[in-house]
Amino acid sequence: MKTQFFPYTFFEGDFVKTEDAKVSIMTNALQYGTGIFGGVRGYYNKDENAIYIFRLEDHIARLHSSARILGCPLPYDEAQMKDIFIELVKRNKPEGDVYFRPFGYVGNLELGPNLANTKLDFALYMIPLGEYMPLGKGLQLKVSSWRRISDNAIPSRAKISGGYVNSALARKEAADEGYDEAILLRENGTVSEGSAENIFLVRNGELITPAVSEGVLEGITRRTIIQMAADMGIPTQARPVERSELYIADEVFLTGTGCQVAWVESIDRRTIGNGQIGPITQKLREKYFGVVRGTDSDYSEWRTKVELG
Ligand code: PMP
Repeated sequence: MKTQFFPYTFFEGDFVKTEDAKVSIMTNALQYGTGIFGGVRGYYNKDENAIYIFRLEDHIARLHSSARILGCPLPYDEAQMKDIFIELVKRNKPEGDVYFRPFGYVGNLELGPNLANTKLDFALYMIPLGEYMPLGKGLQLKVSSWRRISDNAIPSRAKISGGYVNSALARKEAADEGYDEAILLRENGTVSEGSAENIFLVRNGELITPAVSEGVLEGITRRTIIQMAADMGIPTQARPVERSELYIADEVFLTGTGCQVAWVESIDRRTIGNGQIGPITQKLREKYFGVVRGTDSDYSEWRTKVELG
């Protein structure tokens, strides 16, 4: 499948034609994975001819946290970056839902994986994006034979490009064996997350999710769901989860900017609950879609509206 893209991209300090946003084969980030990135969604509202960007400030803050973990500053502060997002939307005039990929990368051509005295370059592009994972069906997951990278190897808390080889290996194994997605365990055996999603279990009317110290990315959708659930009176326990607890959960779902809220039908071929979407997952999912699209007026502080008229 050919990726579609929009005409403009922010690259090397300017809005340029997307086909001109190119780096050298010698680029350090391409060779060594020395970059950090984000993934942000914008939802198109046809009646208002506007894009609602979801939790933009939080995504920008996380990008800066990733840069801090790498030890290399980004060239723009939070306010400047927000302006770049908004200006790019206005130039590209989307007529459907979009996905933004902000990317901070070591753009020099030097030999060797060196982050010392390095300022990151910054680029932002957009693609049209509907579903990242199928939403109409339950997902079939596999506990991966690969282990999640540890905080003292490549921190999962940061979205570091090179760290996604870990995700790609797990995803490949799952796909090769006919599953939709992988779940990675840590070296000590506890559950961390999917290749690009956080995981939630429902047991006895409560949510359970691996704590942020369990080798996970601090997901913005994870935080969103925990908040929405709390406001519905559903508590969340963030704590270590063992593999076998997955099998006996009443409901399991994945969260992420890409997959949004995706329900899980089976894990390691063991059916979760009765093999249907569970009532709590359903309720949270409906709320989530209403809020991100702005058809539900709650949590308006999470939406940045960009008018395209
Ligand atoms: N875990 C990993 C490893 C991810 O790459 C992502 C996607 N950014 C997530 C979880 C979900 O994070 P978010 O909800 O912020 O998109």
